Amino acid sequence: MASDLSIALSQLHGLLRQLAEAEAAFADGPRSITVSEKQVAQAEQKIEEQKAAIKQTRKTADDLNLKLKTKEAELKKLQGQLNAATSNKEFDIFKGQIASVGSERAVLENTAFEAMEEIDVAQAALKKLEVELKSRRQAALTVLAEVQASRSGLETTLQELKSQIAAAEKVIPPGEGLSAYRRLRIANGAGALAGIEDDFCEGCNCRVTNQDLVRIRTGEFLRCRECNRGLYVV
Ligand SMILES: [Zn+2]
Repeated sequence: MASDLSIALSQLHGLLRQLAEAEAAFADGPRSITVSEKQVAQAEQKIEEQKAAIKQTRKTADDLNLKLKTKEAELKKLQGQLNAATSNKEFDIFKGQIASVGSERAVLENTAFEAMEEIDVAQAALKKLEVELKSRRQAALTVLAEVQASRSGLETTLQELKSQIAAAEKVIPPGEGLSAYRRLRIANGAGALAGIEDDFCEGCNCRVTNQDLVRIRTGEFLRCRECNRGLYVV
């Protein structure tokens, strides 16, 4: 048979657990906001990197096109020289040069084409990243609104629990026991109390002595000899 004190301590323990949950929920709000803001910043960063990569590839493509123009001018010049050749020997030399420059131009053309294709692919990826950023921003706004909406409710709950706890704590007799409980509550929250189940302290799983059990059952406030938690019989 549990004493009145044990019943009261068990109720107090329940309130302390509720307070711990409410405090965790309260702390979760700002944490969720930070996480969603970080995700927005990461999405923005990816976009900046993608834009820089596109800029670099575009520069490469521009350089290649410039080189192509030079090759074409070279070819045109050689063609003129070929047409004006005065001997078979000259003709063969220019023909050979035209073939060589022509294949260089083909390689350049191919590389320039590849660079342009690369830009197209990168642009498509950029579009996707922009869509992702938009949804991240939307999600961050939703999180912010939700946290703000639940905030005042949680604050009220916290206040109510704290005053209920303050009232419930009055069952603990003043003295060394109460001071120890207060210290433990600051350090461990709901871990300041522990129920006794089958003669064992639920906080540390150590056996409570028969003598202590008798004293607790008769309504004395005792602490676990191992973990110092205030004990009550469930
Ligand atoms: Zn214990």
